[in-house]
Amino acid sequence: MSELPSPPKEATYHLCPQCTRAVNAQAQERFCPNDGARLITACGACGEVIRTPYARYCTGCGAPLTHRHHEEGQRRGVLSPRDS
Ligand SMILES: [Zn+2]
Ligand SMILES: [Zn+2]
Repeated sequence: MSELPSPPKEATYHLCPQCTRAVNAQAQERFCPNDGARLITACGACGEVIRTPYARYCTGCGAPLTHRHHEEGQRRGVLSPRDS
């Protein structure tokens, strides 16, 4: 039999830029089930694929892969008493 051994595939991941949720590329999810954001399949700057589910920056060029939305920071915990 001339069956070629399948080359070892590196696991790649798709990453949600919103919540940084990573899914295995084999899952073939295109959008994040958490927030509906389109998953990143590769670096937008250099095209490097994502090889780790913990990636926050591109391993090829260092470009940020996720949208770093401002954290809530200090909530204005000013209580406005509305006792009528
Ligand atoms: Zn998400
Ligand atoms: Zn890159």
